[in-house]
Amino acid sequence: MCRHLAHVGPTPVTLASLLTEPEHSLLVQSYAPSDMRGGGTVNADGFGAGWYVSELRGYSTEVRSHTEPVLYRRDDPMWTDASFLDVARGVETTALVAAVRSATVGMPVSTAACAPFRADGLLFSHNGVVRGWPDSMADLAATLPALDLLTLEAATDSALLWALVRARLSAGKDVADAVAGVVADTLAAAPGSRLNLLVGDGGQIVATAVDHALSYRTHPDGAVTVASEPLDPDPSWVPVPDGSLLVARPGGVHDPPSVAVSPL
Ligand code: GLN
Repeated sequence: MCRHLAHVGPTPVTLASLLTEPEHSLLVQSYAPSDMRGGGTVNADGFGAGWYVSELRGYSTEVRSHTEPVLYRRDDPMWTDASFLDVARGVETTALVAAVRSATVGMPVSTAACAPFRADGLLFSHNGVVRGWPDSMADLAATLPALDLLTLEAATDSALLWALVRARLSAGKDVADAVAGVVADTLAAAPGSRLNLLVGDGGQIVATAVDHALSYRTHPDGAVTVASEPLDPDPSWVPVPDGSLLVARPGGVHDPPSVAVSPL
């Protein structure tokens, strides 16, 4: 099963400080994950990182008003991309979503199948599997506009889940409601699915833990990191209870903690 991570905070941090430098970074989790559950030993079928550009000094107004996050994806293992590992040391952001992929058997290995997926200023990742896909999802897929199905980024369960989330957002739901609705509908259609979803919009993270590992950590400045596996042995990592939806914003939502966890 893939591993993913999201971060949101008040101050910029380097991509490397989350993705490559910690002792159990996403890079380490790509070749030595410790809590895979449900199969797979490495996450070698690609990786991706999407991050929000806080400020583009010296660019044209047109570029400055660009709100889509930057996206970097490859269908090779993260550890083989020396240039990305180097660039990560020099790129700063206040918000990112990143993932390393272990393709589910029967699903394509391609860059387009690697999370995060990006649309309308959002980044999405799915860690898990939809049982019985695609047949189990036929009825839910049929609720989507034909164009959404024809333009699915990849023939994977994750790409379909992302289309379902976006359809709910288009219908006016907020991110947390859209994600919770897709998880509930998918569990009804495909019981036993593993549905750790992650959506970032630059200002908040919405994540679910459904039959898969997930933890979060609040940093002293109010930043929050959510990850499949803790990035280090720091005792401030909190495991997210199974069957939870978590909404994280910098500085916190309520007191305590700065992350609200509610049952799905
Ligand atoms: N099923 C998804 C895919 O194949 C996610 C895989 C995973 O979590 N290992 O891309």
